[in-house]
Amino acid sequence: MGYIELMDISKSYNKQSDVLNGIDLQIEKGEFFVLVGPSGSGKSTLLRMIAGLEDISGGTLKINGNIVNHLPPKDRNLSMVFQNYALYPHLTVEQNILFGLNAKKIDKATQKKRLLETAEMMGLSDLLKRKPRELSGGQRQRVALARAVVSDAPLCLMDEPLSNLDAKLRANMRIEIRRLQKKLGLTMIYVTHDQVEAMTMGDRIMVLNDGIIQQVGEPIALYNKPSNLFVATFIGSPK
Ligand code: ADP
Ligand code: MG
Repeated sequence: MGYIELMDISKSYNKQSDVLNGIDLQIEKGEFFVLVGPSGSGKSTLLRMIAGLEDISGGTLKINGNIVNHLPPKDRNLSMVFQNYALYPHLTVEQNILFGLNAKKIDKATQKKRLLETAEMMGLSDLLKRKPRELSGGQRQRVALARAVVSDAPLCLMDEPLSNLDAKLRANMRIEIRRLQKKLGLTMIYVTHDQVEAMTMGDRIMVLNDGIIQQVGEPIALYNKPSNLFVATFIGSPK
């Protein structure tokens, strides 16, 4: 039994043809799982269904053994980082990070402790009183990551979190995200359209095209034994 289980998951918007079809997948606890595929293949839709931000048209989704098809996002015990990781411009770094905590449930002292630990871990301790506009791109990205991990949620979902960064920063952030995921023992589902990102970051990779799984496996397996021409071409020709 996987930590995340998708059984025959499908999705259609407004009763139109399926955007996702027959998705069967298991993701293990502590795994760094990458969803990769071209633009429009259904990656974000799948991630948003796991997050609870999008209705599931058919099939069953389980997290940690429980069927969660109709569970609201806040009860799924997960955190998310999106492509435009929009920080609140009028709030300080500290306030932005604290937004990741479900503040009502946690006492002030614990909030403060978590904030300081997370800031330390992400190298943001000296920047807590700054506003986002006073930060570099990389620092802002670290605030967005801090906001995701401060919650202590065991599952983290990321949708193309590095696509707005320049190449050098992107390379650094790949390593930083991997290190963070290992250190915290997070189960990660990471969406990208970038083959290099997928191949260098994933424990396993799922290649999606037109809403259908093409192959699931370790990077080396996809590279050496692509199951069809699409996978061979897609993995073999990084941009
Ligand atoms: P990806 O993230 O891989 O680029 P998406 O999941 O965003 O793909 O989109 C998959 C398909 O679903 C696309 O054809 C897209 O146009 C369609 N789609 C996405 N969101 C909606 C929506 N809210 N309403 C209707 N169609 C949508
Ligand atoms: Mg997308």
